[in-house]
Amino acid sequence: MNADIKALIEDAQLVLVGIGEEFYDFKNAKANAEYRAAVEKIEAKNKMWLIPLLNYHYIQKNNPSAREALKKLAHLLSDKNYYVVSVCANGLTEKAGFKRDRLVSPCGSIFKLQCMNHCEASVRDITETELEEACGKLDKNAIEEISFGKCPTCGAEMCLNNVYTEKYDENGYLPDWNIYTKWLQGTLNRKLCVLELGVNLTYPSVIRWPFEKVGFYNQKASFVRVNEKLYQLTEDLKDKGISIPKNSIDWLLEEDL
Ligand SMILES: [Zn+2]
Repeated sequence: MNADIKALIEDAQLVLVGIGEEFYDFKNAKANAEYRAAVEKIEAKNKMWLIPLLNYHYIQKNNPSAREALKKLAHLLSDKNYYVVSVCANGLTEKAGFKRDRLVSPCGSIFKLQCMNHCEASVRDITETELEEACGKLDKNAIEEISFGKCPTCGAEMCLNNVYTEKYDENGYLPDWNIYTKWLQGTLNRKLCVLELGVNLTYPSVIRWPFEKVGFYNQKASFVRVNEKLYQLTEDLKDKGISIPKNSIDWLLEEDL
């Protein structure tokens, strides 16, 4: 089975990759008491946009499986013409080694900031120092001390630019999305391998549904779905699709890809 998938990728002219919620590795993270304490405090302070940063920091420090799995995938695809769409805002996809112009994170990340009031043109890159300082405060569970300064326009607090914030500013990812849609137009009638990894149904209109559609309408497409729980394929894809009922982090790390 997995030799088949390796061959499918090698044989494909283009590879479309979806990175899903499984790469938060929430199951392992939530088993950790410190992590749970930090989540409670983040909820109490209503700074939910810190959840992806907490998750990133936890994975770096305690259990880098998700990070290593994505690095392995980036290496596997390094010679291919690919595009990666990630709904995982914890920054691991950005750090995995994919080409920067071949990656879009429509749910945001930990690498950009925005005004909490969604002021126009407030999105900016976070600095290394800001990121390090915030991680240092997470280590001390000093959530209340984490600050990214004030918006130059309205004076409100800046926050991380991801879907966990109440007024998410989509300008953070739209330039990448435009590149993605152009790339996608070029997949028509070409041998495409759709690789959907650990994508659940939190944001089905970003990866899951459109990928199914691409897989169905492209006559030359193959479709691979790896998922611990939602591994079933639609009727439309039953003939051309491969379903692997396994956690996608484990699958990437364990298989000879
Ligand atoms: Zn503002």
